[in-house]
Amino acid sequence: MKYKNTNDPNEIVSFKEAVLKGLGNHKGLFVPTEIPKLPDSFFEKLPNMTDAEIAFEVLRPYIGQEDITDAQLKEIVTETFNFPLPVHPLNEREFILELFHGPTMAFKDVGARFMARCLGLFSTEADEVTVLVATSGDTGSAVAQGFHKVNGVRVIILFPKDKVSPFQEYQMTSLGDNIYAVEVDGTFDDCQALVKQALQDENLKERVNLSTANSINVARFLPQMIYYFSAVKQLHHTLKNNALLVSVPSGNFGNLTAGLYAQKMGLPIQHFIAANNANDTFYQFIYSGKYQAKPSVSTHSNAMDVGDPSNFIRIQELYNYSWEEIKKHISSEMVSDETTLDVMKEVYNQYAYILDPHTAVGYYALHKNLKEKEVGLVLATASSKKFEKVIQKVITDFPSPKVDLTTCAKQQIPNDYNAYQEIIRQK
Ligand SMILES: *Cc1c(COP(=O)(O)O)cnc(C)c1O
Repeated sequence: MKYKNTNDPNEIVSFKEAVLKGLGNHKGLFVPTEIPKLPDSFFEKLPNMTDAEIAFEVLRPYIGQEDITDAQLKEIVTETFNFPLPVHPLNEREFILELFHGPTMAFKDVGARFMARCLGLFSTEADEVTVLVATSGDTGSAVAQGFHKVNGVRVIILFPKDKVSPFQEYQMTSLGDNIYAVEVDGTFDDCQALVKQALQDENLKERVNLSTANSINVARFLPQMIYYFSAVKQLHHTLKNNALLVSVPSGNFGNLTAGLYAQKMGLPIQHFIAANNANDTFYQFIYSGKYQAKPSVSTHSNAMDVGDPSNFIRIQELYNYSWEEIKKHISSEMVSDETTLDVMKEVYNQYAYILDPHTAVGYYALHKNLKEKEVGLVLATASSKKFEKVIQKVITDFPSPKVDLTTCAKQQIPNDYNAYQEIIRQK
């Protein structure tokens, strides 16, 4: 399988090159040149497969044997999918896919673990890779935990001062070794801008092998297809006579894009809902056909505070840049902070189930759109335990996790490219 660049038709690369490079020329994203259909025989045996077995078969066609052999891929998927992805029934027709049973209690663990292991294979001692990440919290913690002690890979994480929770900070700063956490006196957008500047700095790239672990990296978003296969596997009795509607709490749209790929490979999903918070660029696009990026605003579901989703271009590409085609596959909802809290309260009162704010946005969108005869699934992207400040607005006695940051290490820099560059150049 080859990958093409969405901004440069002349750049065609292998999986390995796409992973190592992260971002393509002219800031383009890599997408597979085709999306393979899985045979009927695969779907017949799906209900009896483990998640690692599913991952092997689904991902195999996307990765050339010369980049990763069968034996290596088996090992990578077994290590990546070593925690459960359970479907929790809320009622007879509404289900929650819990993606938060990994080390950092958010869905990004799967992509981070998979990518870390691919990079570990591709880098050599002589040719160390430096992975740059900007985070508002969840990506940094998943990448830190996923890449910790992977040989030949050094990770530098930028996070905005006073904007991540103590728990998230602990997950990024407590590891050491090959993980460097850097606090920037600025916003998340400033952190992201610094990373983008470094990735395009030709002088720097001559000295250091740079890559990135945000969901623009194909190794981050492709393994997320497995969530959807695992859900259909677990729901296969319920789905016999009913169509499946899936709601995805969305920020940069990596997760939703993976679902669309899974559907295109033949997975029986009827329709998707992209659930937005007040950062409703995609929602506005679905209603107007016009894509208007805007600065992000802060909400209770802060991992979805994205005003210009990076994977939007991959969705466009998948449907030949046709708004009509996109609308056939995806609907959208915008959910306010006020509604988010109301939904959390209602679901807690009715089902004694605590939704985290991101999942609450997704659940509201699902509940509103679910039609008779349909089965609904919402992706639970994080555990409520990670967002206690918001949960406590609804459930006053919800406990705060105890974290001790005294033994943690971080560097602090101003919002300044030279200070950042110096850290990257240190070996
Ligand atoms: C990253 C994240 C999202 C958004 O996922 P995308 O793939 O960027 O759309 C949603 N919820 C949580 C908890 C996250 O960490």
